[in-house]
Amino acid sequence: MSRTVYVNGSYMPEEEATVSIFDRGFLMADGVYEVTSVLGGKLIAFEGHAVRLERSLKELDMQAPCDMDELLDIHRELVKLNEIDEGLIYMQITRGSDGDRDFAFPDPETTRPTLVMFTQNKPGLADNPAAKKGAKIISIEDIRWGRRDIKTVQLLYPSMGKMMAKKAGCDDAWLVEDGMVTEGTSNNAYIVKGNTIITRALSNDILHGITRAAVLRYAKEAQMQVEERSFSISEAQGADEAFTTSASAFVMPVVEIDGASLGDGTPGPVAKRLREIYLEESLKTAI
Ligand code: PMP
Repeated sequence: MSRTVYVNGSYMPEEEATVSIFDRGFLMADGVYEVTSVLGGKLIAFEGHAVRLERSLKELDMQAPCDMDELLDIHRELVKLNEIDEGLIYMQITRGSDGDRDFAFPDPETTRPTLVMFTQNKPGLADNPAAKKGAKIISIEDIRWGRRDIKTVQLLYPSMGKMMAKKAGCDDAWLVEDGMVTEGTSNNAYIVKGNTIITRALSNDILHGITRAAVLRYAKEAQMQVEERSFSISEAQGADEAFTTSASAFVMPVVEIDGASLGDGTPGPVAKRLREIYLEESLKTAI
């Protein structure tokens, strides 16, 4: 079934949606995005995504196409029009098109940003069988740019990382810089030692995950210890458990890192419990 998507003020069938070949998102990866999950027809952590979007725009000196209330309305309308019960909403804003190609930013007075949104229907997102199996991870060098805190559409290296993992018979890759794990290709990375959850501290080196913030809050509320510090692959291989977090996969247990099984090679109790708590609590505040 054809989706109804949103492009610059209009809802239309996906086959009719177009963006200029001069759009800077296409030519320069000059764009930012957010992915919000939908459970029970409601948006999870929308406000967090809206706040991060505003920050990404500000850091890149890019205009917002509309205010955040309007963005919320469009999200809700797309959920309704596409009858999404469980799934994702993808939103992308680019610096738009001034009808040519130039490295310099166009004048924001005359070039409006492009806003595109579409839904991805994913029945069974919360009850994902992959979370029961756990993910196998490889490590690769982190060769991305230095502003990973901005959620840009420059996703070529993360895509290559996923392909390297797939080729190695694994599910995902963790990125390593100066001997320490930064994050996963599309998620934040954690290890668990006893009652302590360890994850890299926030900086320009990683994306400030909306799911990360919620999970760390819930972990503290559940009397777990949280240490925000860097860890190496060898420390991770010797940990009791590991997991990743993201808006689309929630809390995903990790069962193998570079061929070394963690614990008994099945999802650990802390990751499983945090996944349950995250889903329960997020549903309570979904809008
Ligand atoms: N790091 C990277 C590189 C990501 O792409 C993502 C997902 N967009 C995350 C972390 C997790 O962020 P969030 O919990 O906001 O989805």
